[in-house]
Amino acid sequence: MTQENSPVYDAIIIGAGMSGLFQLHRLRELGMKVRVFEAGTGVGGTWYWNRYPGARFDSESYSYGYSFSKELLAEWDWTEHFSPQPETLRYLNKVADKFDLRRDIQFRSKVGAAHWREETRSWQVTLEDGSVHTARFLITAIGPLSAFTMPRIDGIESFEGQSCHTARWPHEPVSFEGKRVAVIGTGATGVQTIQEVAKTARKLTVFQRTPNWCTPLRNSRIEPETMADIRSRYDQIFAQCRENWGCFVHTADPRHSTDVTPEEREAFFEKLYAMPGFAFWQGNFRDVLMDQAANDALTAFVIKKIRARVKDQKIADKLIPTNHGYGTRRVPLESGYFEVYNQPNVKLVDIRETPIERVTETGLRVGGQDYEFDMIIYATGFDAITGAFDRIDFQGRDGAKLREKWADGPHTYLGLNVEGFPNMLTLVGPHNAATFCNLPRCIEQNVEFVSDLLGYMRDKGLTRIEATPEAETAWTAHVYDTGSRLLLTKVDSWMTGVNKNVPGRLKRTFMAYAGGAPKYRQKCEEIAANGYEGFALR
Ligand SMILES: Cc1cc2nc3c(=O)[nH]c(=O)nc-3n(C[C@H](O)[C@H](O)[C@H](O)COP(=O)(O)OP(=O)(O)OC[C@H]3O[C@@H](n4cnc5c(N)ncnc54)[C@H](O)[C@@H]3O)c2cc1C
Repeated sequence: MTQENSPVYDAIIIGAGMSGLFQLHRLRELGMKVRVFEAGTGVGGTWYWNRYPGARFDSESYSYGYSFSKELLAEWDWTEHFSPQPETLRYLNKVADKFDLRRDIQFRSKVGAAHWREETRSWQVTLEDGSVHTARFLITAIGPLSAFTMPRIDGIESFEGQSCHTARWPHEPVSFEGKRVAVIGTGATGVQTIQEVAKTARKLTVFQRTPNWCTPLRNSRIEPETMADIRSRYDQIFAQCRENWGCFVHTADPRHSTDVTPEEREAFFEKLYAMPGFAFWQGNFRDVLMDQAANDALTAFVIKKIRARVKDQKIADKLIPTNHGYGTRRVPLESGYFEVYNQPNVKLVDIRETPIERVTETGLRVGGQDYEFDMIIYATGFDAITGAFDRIDFQGRDGAKLREKWADGPHTYLGLNVEGFPNMLTLVGPHNAATFCNLPRCIEQNVEFVSDLLGYMRDKGLTRIEATPEAETAWTAHVYDTGSRLLLTKVDSWMTGVNKNVPGRLKRTFMAYAGGAPKYRQKCEEIAANGYEGFALR
């Protein structure tokens, strides 16, 4: 290979969210020449884009931050147990400043295509402005929830009021005071948005297709003395996350729900319902997400709670999901969500009964009736996990297209590489433990694995890595096997690859890895210890 043909960068990273920032830092430490391309105008990824009212964590703030730098942990105070988006964005900007990351990040730079060049063992990356960049390794840090989706409704462009998707919220403050506002969508984002808009809008109309099981967030402020205590326990907190299936601070109870009397079960559910965060979902009896009868009992408990909180039982009927049990889809956490429907300025429209026919100049036509609005908010979520991949023209060996390879669902090795796509490492990719994780914990694991791998290759003088077909087939089969025990694989959701807003996404696949983060980490460590078994290295 001549000097002329050498790629310009050792690595190109796409995306400057939690994943891309830490990967840049680690590769710089290895002495590599790295370029990050980011579509946005600043760092932060999820926390840069999702500025809608009420956007916040449902991971405990102090379990979400990076753990890799003691200095950073010492310098940062979280002010709420579940930090609001502006605080998290400030945190990620601090990280970028502290580690001087910005000088290697090119903003306003959306990657349109990435093609593998076998002759130079490099990736040719083309930005939407037409500029072309080359690197030995391509690392995708494009986010599991970054490709937002609009509903498939006619006339969206015709609306003359203000309209906005929650993941493209304006950077300037938006007031709802005195306005007639529509919110379309009642997933995790919709729930957070609705609670805030209901406080000041003259009239809020919520258009719901699928109700979700929501349980209380129970957020509170972190006073300085509590923060000092948290800081003194960081090692313990991260160790606890490390051993936990989804890297949260909540650990499933080792008992089956049938090991206790009905009264004890009820009391345990009550106790968890009163706790903050995902305690009720992740800290419950070990069988509630696997055994139908156990799940039914849990679901019945949540139904009772919703009925007690909503005054009009006809509205409660609409808010109670009937097509899946509690916890088998991503659980939105709420702060007074159900009480919103007791307010006189809020109306709920079930669009399964009366579908949205079209967007008009003045609002929405629904079930033959025209609704007038000053603002329409699309809280219609994301083309999750593979969506951001589908939006880039990835071409691997012999011009193979990633989109085509994954047409019937993802095929990967460890959710970190794809056979036919050498030297491409996919952080938080499909079939990676990160898909079910308190994400930064798994992001750090992914980044450490990739960084160690690239360090190993450099030390051995290797320039090409690709998963073997056998390793990929075995991993993909293992992924489906891990999912088979969970009730959630029997339900339509973004975890099972179903998204009615995306053409061709009606067939169930499995996007996640359900073996748990500790098992995944152990597998990665074994593979590394065995000279990166399952990868062909040259
Ligand atoms: C509203 C919301 C709340 C969440 N809350 C939690 C939580 O409480 N706990 C939790 O664990 N997780 C949460 N998540 C998941 C969250 O996405 C992760 O925690 C984490 O931020 C992922 O970081 P990332 O860097 O992998 O991806 P992202 O933060 O999504 O960053 C990806 C970046 O890649 C860029 N990008 C994508 N495609 C291209 C392209 N073609 N060219 C250039 N740039 C591109 C994007 O602009 C983006 O900046 C939440 C997600 C959302 C949307």
